[in-house]
Amino acid sequence: MVTVKRVDRKEQGKWTKFCPRCGKTTDVLFDSVCKECFTAGIKLIGSERMNLTLSVCKNCGGYFKGKERTSIKDAVVDSVSKEIRRRYGYGCTVEVKELEEGITAKENKASAVLCVRTEIKGVDIEETGKIEVNFKSGICERCNRIASGYYAGIVQIRADDRLPTDDEIAMAEKIVHSALGESDFITKEIAMKEGLDLYVSSMECGRRISRVVVERLGGSFSESSKLYGRKDGRDIYRVSFSVRLPGFKVGTVLEMGDKVISVERLIKGKGVECVDVNSHERVFLRKKETKKVKVR
Ligand SMILES: [Zn+2]
Ligand SMILES: [Zn+2]
Repeated sequence: MVTVKRVDRKEQGKWTKFCPRCGKTTDVLFDSVCKECFTAGIKLIGSERMNLTLSVCKNCGGYFKGKERTSIKDAVVDSVSKEIRRRYGYGCTVEVKELEEGITAKENKASAVLCVRTEIKGVDIEETGKIEVNFKSGICERCNRIASGYYAGIVQIRADDRLPTDDEIAMAEKIVHSALGESDFITKEIAMKEGLDLYVSSMECGRRISRVVVERLGGSFSESSKLYGRKDGRDIYRVSFSVRLPGFKVGTVLEMGDKVISVERLIKGKGVECVDVNSHERVFLRKKETKKVKVR
């Protein structure tokens, strides 16, 4: 029996490479050293630059990086990812495993245990470690502004040629509060004879809540700005948003106490002529009485 030994010609002519650092034979070199030596030279977690300081608002308990509201976890992930990208030029995934919070007046510190995975020059690297999070307490911009009665604009909710009904105002209030973002606030709410005035934290907030109210209750809104003053060489404007809920139409059915009435004729500036749907009796609803009815 003859045994034929096959020789791979490619294998034969190849130079054997050595890692200059550990002397091990290897086929592939990364940055002129073997894979193990290459990974041993990389340290993903742990550097002064990764440690971060967050402000904690004494009033609302929110965490802030600079002026931006954040969570401890998001801030940790962001800080670590940025530092790894800066150092190695690669993105990574950061998983925060544990947040050991020690927010006490004495220490104001927490450490975050995390696991970082990345791929550098084709080598998968995973590392588990800890970084330090420091806290300093203060009052955030939002709480500060609420306390000082700040507002950037007014949303005025009115109705076209009638008064908004109590029901509509209650609904509008609910809609407005559900449309507020994290940094929005309402400094004051004033119930007016003609409707509701809301003093809002920003122009964007005013615009958003006006839009949402109109989307849900109908009508339209317009905005106008007025020069209010100057601060640090810049003009400060206050914006008014005028939300107009739709007026009654001929045929609109209303409930007034225990009566059910239907709109017959609109008399501009005065009120609406209605008819009781049961007794067919004519009812005149003055403009200021429109507040108490319910639209069916
Ligand atoms: Zn090596
Ligand atoms: Zn706050």
